[in-house]
Amino acid sequence: MAVPILDLSRSFRSVRAEITKSLNKLFDAQSFILGQPVKDFETHCENYLEIPENSAVGCASGTDALLLALMSIDIRPGDEVITTPFTFFATSGTIARLGAVPVFVDVDPDTFNINTDQALSAITPKTKAFLPVHLFGQMCALEEVIDEFHERGVKVIEDAAQAFGASRSVGGEIQRAGAVGDVGCYSFFPTKNLGGCGDGGMVVTLDKERAERLRRLRVHGSGTTYYHDEIGINSRLDAVQAAILDVKLRYLDEWNEARRNIADYYRLLIKLHDLQDYLTAPAELPGNHHIYHQYVVRVSERRDELMTYLGENGFSARVYYPLPLHLQPCFEYLGYSAGDFPVSEQLSHEVLALPVFPGLLESEQDALIECVAKFFRG
Ligand SMILES: *Cc1c(COP(=O)(O)O)cnc(C)c1O
Repeated sequence: MAVPILDLSRSFRSVRAEITKSLNKLFDAQSFILGQPVKDFETHCENYLEIPENSAVGCASGTDALLLALMSIDIRPGDEVITTPFTFFATSGTIARLGAVPVFVDVDPDTFNINTDQALSAITPKTKAFLPVHLFGQMCALEEVIDEFHERGVKVIEDAAQAFGASRSVGGEIQRAGAVGDVGCYSFFPTKNLGGCGDGGMVVTLDKERAERLRRLRVHGSGTTYYHDEIGINSRLDAVQAAILDVKLRYLDEWNEARRNIADYYRLLIKLHDLQDYLTAPAELPGNHHIYHQYVVRVSERRDELMTYLGENGFSARVYYPLPLHLQPCFEYLGYSAGDFPVSEQLSHEVLALPVFPGLLESEQDALIECVAKFFRG
């Protein structure tokens, strides 16, 4: 048996005909930059996220979504942005790209999300923004701190690249990842829960003026063609990707539900095989609707050996993330050292992502967990 970490073809099968039809329409129209397909997809995302008209702005990638979001709140050289070291590189890469300073604080050992109390303690007079990540598809409890950040003049930008469709129930109200802070950022990289056939991204904001500004920033800061109010970038959501994503969006809830069922079944299997001393299943905070972009367990011992053993037996597993961002060579100039963020550092030695994707079979999960049991018990 060979079980890949991700097999996109299993879910693509069910949408292929619809996507082909939609692309043929686009090829007939030969209109590939912005236009109707992008507008339609933006509108459907607004409906899905239950946010007002014109608050979603498609762009070229999740990385650009972060960059545009930071530009839209005037992040400048020397400004501080509080963020997590346990995430994909783009979260801090974009901060540094603008000459601003990523200020790291550690994460929670159960959810892997940024420790919000420590984030509040990291505020200085230079702090302009707080940039939490809803890691692996589970939302941070932003409601606990958002008002205090705002009172202290700090904007909140959500990196929801892994969390399109994740939500959290707060006092009976549903909050959607990306639609809680001042600006929310999504990625449609092919491996994301809502993934295109290439790069894509989106920024959302409930502030009408900021949304207008984002629409200008994605076309070189130009409101009227060839007239530039400010210096922007070239970062449009490709019409081809928009047409594809628009079809896939209709299946997103179904696919996220499939991932949640897979997560439930892993949890059950870990118990049935009495593996709790070796594998800690990911925690889902009360109120959270986790969409399991990744199913990440903590392995108490010999993580790398286990990964190799699984690989030898046809089961692929991955480490997200092997080196926290404060220890990356490119961020040496920030002056952090090993030991600064013990939870993130320990996680980088213990985490292991197991296959989770729509279409993964229970028999494949059975075989994988049996293989884990064999590794630890022989
Ligand atoms: C994927 C990802 C990004 C970047 O998205 P791209 O579309 O690949 O540029 C940013 N942040 C996080 C947490 C991600 O997982």
